[in-house]
Amino acid sequence: MEKHFDLAIIGGGIIGTATWYKIQKRHPELHIVLLEKENILADHQTGHNSGVIHSGLYYTPGSLKAKNCMRGREEIVAFSKEHGIDHDVCGKVVVATDESEFPFMEKIFQNGVENGLTGIEYINSDQIKEIEPHVRGIKGIWVPQTGIIDFRGATAKMAEVAHQIQPSSELMLNTEVQAVETGEPNILQTSKGRLSATNLIFCAGLQADRMARKDGVELKERVVGFRGDYFELEDHAKHKVRNLIYPVPNPAFPFLGVHFTRMTNGDIECGPSAVFTFKREGYGKTDFSLQDTIEALGYSGTWKLFFKNMKFGIDEQRRAFSKKLFLKGLQRLIPDLELSDLRPRRSGVRALLLNEDGDTRDDFRIEYKQHSIHVLNAPSPAATASLSIGDYVADMADKQFGYK
Ligand SMILES: Cc1cc2nc3c(=O)[nH]c(=O)nc-3n(C[C@H](O)[C@H](O)[C@H](O)COP(=O)(O)OP(=O)(O)OC[C@H]3O[C@@H](n4cnc5c(N)ncnc54)[C@H](O)[C@@H]3O)c2cc1C
Repeated sequence: MEKHFDLAIIGGGIIGTATWYKIQKRHPELHIVLLEKENILADHQTGHNSGVIHSGLYYTPGSLKAKNCMRGREEIVAFSKEHGIDHDVCGKVVVATDESEFPFMEKIFQNGVENGLTGIEYINSDQIKEIEPHVRGIKGIWVPQTGIIDFRGATAKMAEVAHQIQPSSELMLNTEVQAVETGEPNILQTSKGRLSATNLIFCAGLQADRMARKDGVELKERVVGFRGDYFELEDHAKHKVRNLIYPVPNPAFPFLGVHFTRMTNGDIECGPSAVFTFKREGYGKTDFSLQDTIEALGYSGTWKLFFKNMKFGIDEQRRAFSKKLFLKGLQRLIPDLELSDLRPRRSGVRALLLNEDGDTRDDFRIEYKQHSIHVLNAPSPAATASLSIGDYVADMADKQFGYK
């Protein structure tokens, strides 16, 4: 007989782990297993992200992103204070360098106000310089709520606390879920053998669409990976950035643009870019997976996205292989940055849930069927929002799985 659990959560990124933490807190009696295929938690999107606690500035009022970012930000800061996770609510500046950016700047400012951000304000070029002396901008937004955090540390702590609540619950690392037999109970075939669970919650990030199909979900969309490369500032140039400096995002793209981030360890990163990747969980410029490439390039949505964003895509590809071009982009915000100030750092891959028309799913998307819940789309700011998303999924589980 295989080992049985009340609930199996598949995927030990920050979303799966926050979901375990939240459900275990509500229902200490439940015997839960968190299954993660890597040998540590948070080793994909969560551990390769920018480490920014987002404020809630950008997101459409009323959207899941807006609601969960606002709630989740407050919760993750409180959680970090309680458990000693490295973080700093240092605020950020969003900087316009050209008047053509003003209309979208106004739009995100209004979104911020409607989403309930207090204390955000427009600032002029002198005020920008007082906050970030090396930045040249013609108008800015000061956002006091933004911060930086160690998301890997936060994820590890959520798992630790969940396990303390119910020591018979388990974290199984190095355990890949390979097949799902739906039934009562569900059977999971894993790289370490079979186990059974009454209910399932899938939080598989870059593998979300594949896991959904394995569980019989009819999903038209497909996940396509977009790699983002980062540079970091050499020690002699670190004084050029104090905290967080963001451009006004281009409304045509689902990314916030290359920004400067002080990490919790004091390093200063610049990035991420956005290039199509031939491997969903590949972090090198030449990483390749035949299955990922065939699936992505055999999908009409990918090509439609390429054609719609041809110029942006070509520019990003060129930038991926040219430090000079990367620098040129950064110099829009910090003109006195030099080539010798930068060294290549690391990369992250974002999961984009693309529909057949090449449009990205902007908002979070979480769906259920009888005995399972699928987190299908959890892009940025999902790490910030993780504890609130955990509650959202826990509410769904209470209703759907009949937890009392
Ligand atoms: C470059 C980049 C920068 C970002 N910056 C920020 C930021 O500054 N702030 C912010 O709030 N958000 C940011 N984000 C977004 C944020 O990181 C993600 O939204 C969040 O980490 C998603 O978490 P997740 O748990 O859904 O996915 P992941 O962290 O990818 O976790 C999914 C997990 O599922 C596991 N898994 C998959 N398939 C299986 C299987 N079959 N069996 C077992 N395990 C499986 C994977 O190994 C993985 O650990 C950024 C993302 C990227 C990529």
